[in-house]
Order: sequence, then structure tokens, then C-alpha cells
Amino acid sequence: SIPHADLVIIGTGMAGVGLARALRREGDTRRLTLISADSGDDYSKPLLSTGFAKKLAPDKLAQRDAETLAEALNATLLSHTTVSAIDPEARWLTLADGSDYAYTQLVLATGAAPRAPFAIPSDCAAHCFSVNDLDDYRRFHAALRHGPARVAIIGAGLVGCEFANDLHAGGHHVSLIAPESAPLPRLLPEPLGHALGETFIEAGMQLALGRSLERIARGASDAVQLTLDNHQRIDADVVLLATGLAPRTALAAKAGLEVSANGIAVDRTLQTSHPAIFALGDAACVAGVNAMYVQPLQASANALAKTLAGTPTPVHFGAWPVIVKTPLLPVVAYPPLATPARWRIEADGTDMTALAEDKDERLIGFALTGGCVRRKVELSRAAPALLG
Ligand code: FAD
Repeated sequence: SIPHADLVIIGTGMAGVGLARALRREGDTRRLTLISADSGDDYSKPLLSTGFAKKLAPDKLAQRDAETLAEALNATLLSHTTVSAIDPEARWLTLADGSDYAYTQLVLATGAAPRAPFAIPSDCAAHCFSVNDLDDYRRFHAALRHGPARVAIIGAGLVGCEFANDLHAGGHHVSLIAPESAPLPRLLPEPLGHALGETFIEAGMQLALGRSLERIARGASDAVQLTLDNHQRIDADVVLLATGLAPRTALAAKAGLEVSANGIAVDRTLQTSHPAIFALGDAACVAGVNAMYVQPLQASANALAKTLAGTPTPVHFGAWPVIVKTPLLPVVAYPPLATPARWRIEADGTDMTALAEDKDERLIGFALTGGCVRRKVELSRAAPALLG
């Protein structure tokens, strides 16, 4: 007979595990199965971009292995198991090995996958990495174990900038390459992005901003050579692709659930277009908002646990800023949802405050660097909620 669980959660990232924990905290005793394509080890993803500075071995980032986690949650955990299809009417899943798994209710916590903006030639593949889970991190860490290396990072968003700072602090030679003219383009107005860029340059990193990658090829002596659109060449031992994340929606879309480029569509009770299927975390677009960071997914896990336990609980997202882990120049940002009428910027060196205002001069977002990050609490109180 087909194995069955009252609730199946696909994904053991912070969203899936957070939900399982919240359910057990609520005293919920239903039969629970978690399924993960990766190792299923319990780890905090934000720590992935802090390990080199602290010289932490990958296993130090795992709080506990999958087996211990399953025991603590009183759940079945299937690791290295990919779900390849969902049949919402029959309420079963098909796993990659062709076997089926039946559920009463299903939660999709499938996260987001790195975007691959260009094809990597096969002879360069062993040098190119994206780091989006602990298994990736183990491989990346192994490639850098021989001491200082030349690391080229493609992409200057949160992941690219955090790894740039962390790898630099860990003794590596960092080049940061991105098509935008300043780092953190989606989080910071340009003057603040430039402050971060200048700080990186002063620390000794090489920045190639406003540049895109034209070609990647094998270079001399076990390295790769990147050619930029201005013909500049950069030699690298290791390339880190930090070119953004896209919500994993393919499984949901194939099952006929409503999805968009922003994620699996759910209402404020985290319910998808099918009443027995829910979604949260990086994969989900909650009432039009896809917030790919920890605080919203924790709020979602807590609300969904209550809903599943029988008390429908709509989720609320506060004005929760993103804290960028760039110790060379601390950054806090709460980007406005709509294009602001103007940014009001004050600067004292690299200590900067930027306030986004609408046409009626109301605060709708903010960005802070350096010593100004201490204004985080005050401005969060004044800004509108992300999902009020
Ligand atoms: P994921 O952690 O991606 O988990 C997805 C799970 O789904 C995995 O277990 C995967 O194996 C599984 N899965 C997917 N498809 C299938 C399938 N078909 N079958 C079976 N399993 C499947 N946020 C902050 O708030 N603060 C920070 O400082 C911060 N730093 C970050 C640093 C880095 C380097 C990165 C990459 C992100 C950072 N974030 C930070 C964002 C934050 O980590 C994410 O929002 C969060 O971890 C997403 O969790 P998730 O559970 O939704 O997804």
C-alpha cells in the first residue's frame, strides 16, 4: 500500500522545518512527513555567507543532522528525495524513484533556486559554484580549502555582497562583477550602494560594476578566465554565481496550482488555489508579496501552524528591514514597495540615511549604512507594514 501522512511538507529549509516546529509547539500530534531534495540537515541558511570569516567548517553550520531533526519533530524525514509530481485530486505525490506518497494536507516549502543567466562551458563547471544550501556550501568550501584563492563573484545583490565581504575576511582575493553601477541595486539607492562599493575597494577588493560577462573559458594552470564586455580579463580559481534566486514554482504549476514569476500564489492563510495545499517561504507569493527573507517566513510558519490546527489565522508582515551582513560597512534596508516620489539622503562619510517618500512626503521605505544602522528600530516603527 502507498505510505500516507496526515501532513506532508515538501522542503526542510527554514520554512518547512519552522512550520513543523510551530505545529509541534501548538501540541499538534498528527502524522507528519518532511521530504527534502537535499541532505535534510537542520541549518540556518543566513550563516552560509558568514562561515569564511569565522573559519567555520561546513558541519559547524548544521545544527543537527536529518535523523536527529526527524526524531525531535516526531516526524518521518525523507532526505535526498525529490518530489516530481503532485496529484491534487487524488492527494498523492510521485517521488523521483517513481513511488507514490499519499497525504491529507500538503505544504510546499520548496524555496527558491539560483538563476543561471548563462551556460557554463563544461570544462569550467568544476570551478563555478552557486551556494544556496548546505550541500552547495560543502562543495564550495572544499574548493577553497587550499588557502587564499582568487574568487570572482558574479552578481552584487545581497548574496554576492555578503559572500564578497565574508570571503575577503577569510583571506581570499575577491573580484565582484555586476551589470549594475552600484552594489545592492534592489535594496539601496545608488549613493548608498556606491558607499558600500568604495568600502569594498578600500578593503582591497576588485570591483567591475556596470560590466557584464562576455565569456568564461579555461585559463592557464587550473584557473578560469572571465572576459567582460569592455574586454577586461579576470583570472579566477573559483567563480561564485550570485545572480539571483527564482521561487521554485514548477512542481506547483505542473499540478495546476496558480503561480506567477513571484511564486506560488497563496492568500493570507497561506492557502494555494487548492484548498488542501498550502505554501510558505521563498517559494510563496503571499497576497502579492514575495519576501525572500527569514522574518516573513517565520511569521508564516506560526500563522499556518494555527490555521492547520483549526484556527484560520491570516499572516501579517511588519515593516521588517533586511539586515545585510557586510561588516566592512553595515547595511539595513527596507525597500519601498512602490517607486518613491523621492529619496531624501543625508550623509556623513559612509554613514548614510536614505528615506523613501511618497508624493505626500510619507515615509514608505528606508536604507541605512555604517553608524546610521542604529536608526533601524525608529524608522521601522514609522514605515508602513510589508503586509499590514
Ligand atoms: P530553502 O531553504 O531554499 O528550502 C527549500 C527546501 O525545499 C529544500 O529543503 C529543498 O531541498 C526542498 N525542495 C525544493 N524542491 C523540492 C522537490 N521538488 N522535492 C523535494 N524537496 C524539494 N534572510 C534573512 O532574513 N537574513 C539573512 O541574513 C539572510 N542571509 C542569507 C544568506 C544567503 C547566502 C542566502 C542564500 C539567503 C539568505 N537569506 C537571509 C534568505 C533566507 O535564508 C531565505 O529566505 C530562507 O532560508 C528560505 O527558506 P525556505 O525554507 O523558504 O527555502
